[in-house]
Amino acid sequence: MAEEKLRDSSLACGDVEGKFDILFNRVRAIQKKSGNFDLLLCVGNFFGSTPDAEWEEYKTGIKKAPIQTYVLGANNQETVKYFQDADGCELAENITYLGRKGIFTGSSGLQIVYLSGTESLNEPVPGYSFSPKDVSSLRMMLCTTSQFKGVDILLTSPWPKYVGTFGNSSGEVDTKKCGSALVSSLATGLKPRYHFAALEKTYYERLPYRNHIVLQENAQHATRFIALANVGNPEKKKYLYAFSIVPMKLMDAAELVKQPPDVTENPYRKSGQEVSIGKQIPAPVEESACQFFFDLNENQGRKRSSTGRDSKSSPHPKQPRKPPQPPGPCWFCLASPEVEKHLVVNIGTHCYLALAKGGLSDDHVLILPIGHYQSVVELSAEVVEEVEKYKATLRRFFKSRGKRCVVFERNYKSHHLQLQVIPVPVSCCATDDIKDAFITQAQEQQIELLEIPEHSDIKQIAQPGAAYFYVELDTGEKLFHRIKKSFPLQFGREVLASEAILNIPDKSDWRQCQISKEDEETLARRFRKDFEPFDFTLDD
Ligand SMILES: [Zn+2]
Repeated sequence: MAEEKLRDSSLACGDVEGKFDILFNRVRAIQKKSGNFDLLLCVGNFFGSTPDAEWEEYKTGIKKAPIQTYVLGANNQETVKYFQDADGCELAENITYLGRKGIFTGSSGLQIVYLSGTESLNEPVPGYSFSPKDVSSLRMMLCTTSQFKGVDILLTSPWPKYVGTFGNSSGEVDTKKCGSALVSSLATGLKPRYHFAALEKTYYERLPYRNHIVLQENAQHATRFIALANVGNPEKKKYLYAFSIVPMKLMDAAELVKQPPDVTENPYRKSGQEVSIGKQIPAPVEESACQFFFDLNENQGRKRSSTGRDSKSSPHPKQPRKPPQPPGPCWFCLASPEVEKHLVVNIGTHCYLALAKGGLSDDHVLILPIGHYQSVVELSAEVVEEVEKYKATLRRFFKSRGKRCVVFERNYKSHHLQLQVIPVPVSCCATDDIKDAFITQAQEQQIELLEIPEHSDIKQIAQPGAAYFYVELDTGEKLFHRIKKSFPLQFGREVLASEAILNIPDKSDWRQCQISKEDEETLARRFRKDFEPFDFTLDD
């Protein structure tokens, strides 16, 4: 008996636009080098808009595709004529039109869902478009059973709208403006492991994204979205993508849901509501980047304002890329109306500083990312860099005031990363006393604290999505706890308030430390002024 085939090795391709010879010669070269592939999946425009002698040679059998090729249908009126049968048909030997929409299973059991054409919200739908009904019927076909976990591959021609949210940069393509919201909706429902699209004449491999909400839902597999460029493009952008996967139905559940280290939040879960189907999805409100840069300095003015160096036309020279957006209201996203702006004391490019509400001391501050990130594990390198810069600067600042910094993070029952920075007067105790206090009080509560070396990265220790607590001493040493089930929310604060350290036990609950808004404003003003000589955001 023949051994059962466990995986399909496939190639995915962007817009061919009639350049069949270039594509198939390339495929031949790849197969010669790497061995044969099972399938070639083409998304985007397979045919060009101009009359085509090259196609005649394939159609009549003079030339033959070197691999079983599956293509999506037309995206414009000019090429509708090539796709006679809406249910799919053979276009030439080895070249098959999949059809308007449906499910196709590869020889190994790979499940491939396809949707041809571009989005249309108007009835009647043109022959080269899909409608909200097409998308809902595809979802109905698959997603209605409780056993449904996802599909292996989704093929669409347009990009899903918003796919760049929370992800790496998508280059010139603004995913908030272009792409199809219906495709986003389809991807949300189908949870493909791979999603291929084209039409934007560029290559974009997004960081994999999660299909579950961390700490609220069971782990599910991640999705990789890959947009491919057009065949034979002069800039040599990637248009062919080789991959080989075991169908998910044959995979061990634990193996399937293993999270890649660079996994991000789901780009389509916005404002707590899933992108919905059958109605036009309103674009999220464009916040002006200026909101991040309200004037903190009141009458103080910027250091360089008289030198003319900041006379650039933009009053806000440090506009960052739009940061990740929260799934719902957030107290700490700087652009969010919930933020208590009067507590904000310094704003960088990716992070900002705010006084802690009901802080342990008047100069207890938080380092917060401007965009919505849940924990340090999720931060991109550039954000981490600025977090470290803030930490180092605060250490110097507090040192000049006779204090050492203790920093802690609790990634448990919190939605937006908050690095608590608590200055402890040098006269109170030594660093080792602080360390001992944490270790002793952790033991009393059966909390296992792991010592991790200086400069080591939490990312190497904590899996994305895993709950944890750590405290970082002014030496850079860290004590780390992996939270399994529950964790006393006030732990870090309680230890610092205890007799062993700050000796203000009545302040261990922040709610007991509330002061009036006027007093908060006064403290914030004082902090800004004191911190100004250390403020690196005023440097060029
Ligand atoms: Zn947030």
